[in-house]
Amino acid sequence: EGGGSMAATGEGEAQGLCGPGTGGLALLGVAPGAPSCPHGPALLFVKTSQGKEEGRRFYACSACRDRKGCNFFQWEDEKVSETRLAAREEHNRNHQPPFTHRQNVERYKNFVLLPLSKRRFCQECQQLLLPAEWEKHSDHQFLCDISTAQLKSPSQLLYPLENKKTNAQYLFADRSCQFLLDLIIDLGFRRVLSVGTPRLHEMIQSKASQEEDFRVRSLLLDIDFRYSQFYTEDEFCHYNMFNHHFFGGEAARETCGKFLYQDHGERVIMVTDPPFGGLVEALASSFKKLMAMWKETEKEEGHNNQEMPMFWIFPYFFESRILEFFPSFSMMDYQVDYDNHALYKHGKTGRRQSPVRIFTNLTPSMIVLPVEEGYRFCTICQRYVSSGNQHCDICNSCTSKDGRRWKHCILCKKCVKPSWFHCNNCNCCAFQNHTCQKTDAGCFVCGKAGHKRSTCPSLSYT
Ligand code: SAH
Ligand code: ZN
Ligand code: ZN
Ligand code: ZN
Ligand code: ZN
Repeated sequence: EGGGSMAATGEGEAQGLCGPGTGGLALLGVAPGAPSCPHGPALLFVKTSQGKEEGRRFYACSACRDRKGCNFFQWEDEKVSETRLAAREEHNRNHQPPFTHRQNVERYKNFVLLPLSKRRFCQECQQLLLPAEWEKHSDHQFLCDISTAQLKSPSQLLYPLENKKTNAQYLFADRSCQFLLDLIIDLGFRRVLSVGTPRLHEMIQSKASQEEDFRVRSLLLDIDFRYSQFYTEDEFCHYNMFNHHFFGGEAARETCGKFLYQDHGERVIMVTDPPFGGLVEALASSFKKLMAMWKETEKEEGHNNQEMPMFWIFPYFFESRILEFFPSFSMMDYQVDYDNHALYKHGKTGRRQSPVRIFTNLTPSMIVLPVEEGYRFCTICQRYVSSGNQHCDICNSCTSKDGRRWKHCILCKKCVKPSWFHCNNCNCCAFQNHTCQKTDAGCFVCGKAGHKRSTCPSLSYT
């Protein structure tokens, strides 16, 4: 850990930087004048111990949390020579995609004019090929006869980037994607700012092109530039959500602004499903900037003091971290399912239990969850909850976070996981095999003492 490469963590763990109080790295933010790597301005970090800054501050890549993805590193107070600056600039240029978005849009136009027999997609380069380029890719694997239907669902054509620490593309299962879209429609939204949700974007785009009375529009912001082959500049912006960087510069930022300002900013919702690799504060800071962009629309009216409606899709064990930055948010019980998420195994019920939830600033009672999947409405809490989530009369709320029935601990004065017991050593409830520790440094994930995030019981279903 440290030394420029972000905390390396294992599978099944919530990856991330340690919060205050723990030993680890703290994010200081997007500093003005920060140096840039190919992923835009770098973020400023510092090593911490017992909540105190320790050692020199340094810049590291915002998007990649391992050296393989991007090895950018610079001490904050480091003098960088002219030669190194020039080399860095050249490196940044060389690491931009081979075609610009504009070029890709032109290529697409030509591609769709080709007869089916000449429509090829190179699987190695993840690129639509024009006949003149076949030669160059002759020893690459490719797909033939790319249909219009395939072009309309790029998330199926492209392979999901599964690099755990960089892109981690986990695609919505069809059921969850459909649920989200139906919910958005039922709530009366007309525009969706899709931040890192290519599959939702794709579902909206394809309905818009097929159904005449379908009124919802979407703009995709994502760091995965492969999508620029399938969408115009009005449909996709190459964007880094960890530093709010628009790779397409001012024009792309304007596209996003215009999208938000349409209709005086009304009936727009932002939906985001970021990689879980920590950096909640960086995400929050970017999302606040997107919200601020939206807010600029209201100036002329000057009446309401609202926030841009948002769905932030993230694991339940980040609840307290998200609420720290967005106190107006609440967590919904709906379990978001994925096609290719191997992290979470079968729960006791046999159904795969997903830890991923929807955090929103909309009124919880408005978020109607499917009764046929077992969700029910709690009239006291005024929100839909999982079937197993029993209302606790002492806490006066439906307290389960993972869908199972939790039990109330009189000593802790709150509900805890069913398998936990009250440990007199630690003076709190814990899982069976925990190691008692007298430390005030809380776990990054759940904030409790007695364990580090790598063994946080919140992350398991035991
Ligand atoms: N469930 C979503 C995909 C979520 S996976 C769906 O099915 O539509 C996370 C998404 O965030 C991926 O599309 C990935 O390309 C994107 N992403 C990862 N890092 C990013 C970054 N730094 N900035 C913007 N998007 C990023
Ligand atoms: Zn190729
Ligand atoms: Zn309740
Ligand atoms: Zn309780
Ligand atoms: Zn207890």
